[in-house]
Amino acid sequence: MNGWPLLYVPEIPAGYSIPELRLLNTATKEIETIPQKSEYRLYVCGITPYDATHLGHAATYLVFDLIHRYLRATGARVRFVQNITDIDDPLLERAARDSITWEELAQSQIDLFRGDMTDLHILPPDFYMGVVESMSLIISAVQKLIDAGHTYKVNGDIYFRVHSDPDFGTRSKLSHDQMMEIFRERGGDPDRVGKENPLDALVWLAQRPGEPGWESPFGIGRPGWHIECSAIALNFLQSSSDDEYSIDIQGGGSDLIFPHHEMSASQSFSITGKPFSRFYVHAGMVGLDGQKMSKSLGNLVFVSKIISSGFEPMAIRWALMKHSYDQDVMWHHSMIESAAAEIEELRECLSRVDVAPTESVISALISSLSNNLDTAHVVKELKLWIQETKSGKTGGHAGELSRAIDSLLGLAL
Ligand code: ZN
Repeated sequence: MNGWPLLYVPEIPAGYSIPELRLLNTATKEIETIPQKSEYRLYVCGITPYDATHLGHAATYLVFDLIHRYLRATGARVRFVQNITDIDDPLLERAARDSITWEELAQSQIDLFRGDMTDLHILPPDFYMGVVESMSLIISAVQKLIDAGHTYKVNGDIYFRVHSDPDFGTRSKLSHDQMMEIFRERGGDPDRVGKENPLDALVWLAQRPGEPGWESPFGIGRPGWHIECSAIALNFLQSSSDDEYSIDIQGGGSDLIFPHHEMSASQSFSITGKPFSRFYVHAGMVGLDGQKMSKSLGNLVFVSKIISSGFEPMAIRWALMKHSYDQDVMWHHSMIESAAAEIEELRECLSRVDVAPTESVISALISSLSNNLDTAHVVKELKLWIQETKSGKTGGHAGELSRAIDSLLGLAL
């Protein structure tokens, strides 16, 4: 599937050293240094195209865009893959509710998502892969699990035995009871009769009446959610035999830690015999006015609505950057208003010939990002530079700062 247009990323002005990136690894709960490499493999879970693109999506894809941009700035190549869950229960339910086909619904939401990612200046993935177009490789991944004896059937549906992976549970670090509770909440079926272990993951759902299905050696049906990401990541980010891990970074929102990323990792390990990802990185959730932002509460804030109400997309990036990416954020409309005003001030200062010194700001920007993407500090430094410039300080080079901001922060001003 086509992603969205490639973006020009300016070079960082010469003379700045780019330290190794340190990020919070969910699997260790520690901030760890990502070892210097010439090439990184980044997999970020994509949307289920039935409600695109709300601020939670924007916050998540912004985080991985900043990581992508930083790793590129170190001189490395970044291979970046994202999936689209373009067949799944919520999509079928929403399409039935709205009396359209699931294909039409998916297409319209994917188009909207691509437009929003373009507006938000997110670097596109090298491979943007839908489940439907990846069906043969997902079927082949399920077949590998079957051949290795890691599956069993319940009334024609196929389940993966999560304890085939001795490390099951080590990335999310949850107790059995916590896993059970979250699994039940997030679409799992721990109470289904016939399962060997309540946490076992569905990898193939036999076709139900009135639902779409695809031919496979194990019957007509469709894949479970977690196996699609295992299959797409392993196929499009192939590792060499020297690589200790299948990929370098598995990313997504913190609501994917369990069960999605745990299950995908266990399935991938059971297919390859290699640990799946070196790092698991998660973006916090975005709430609204003191409440959780969710489809069921009907209080989702959409990127396209913010933009159509007159705010520029860069103000969304700026507003989200004011917070620690790994913490939940409570959104309020005033945040976009103040961000828009600050972006305007920054733009005005960057258009001046005489500006406050920029070298120290660029250095601070780089070192703050390297420190677990401390974007809140980046914003603080830039606001300080705006004040200094307005107060008449000189000696800086606006063009260089502008390039660094575009390159590393993705703020095209
Ligand atoms: Zn995924």
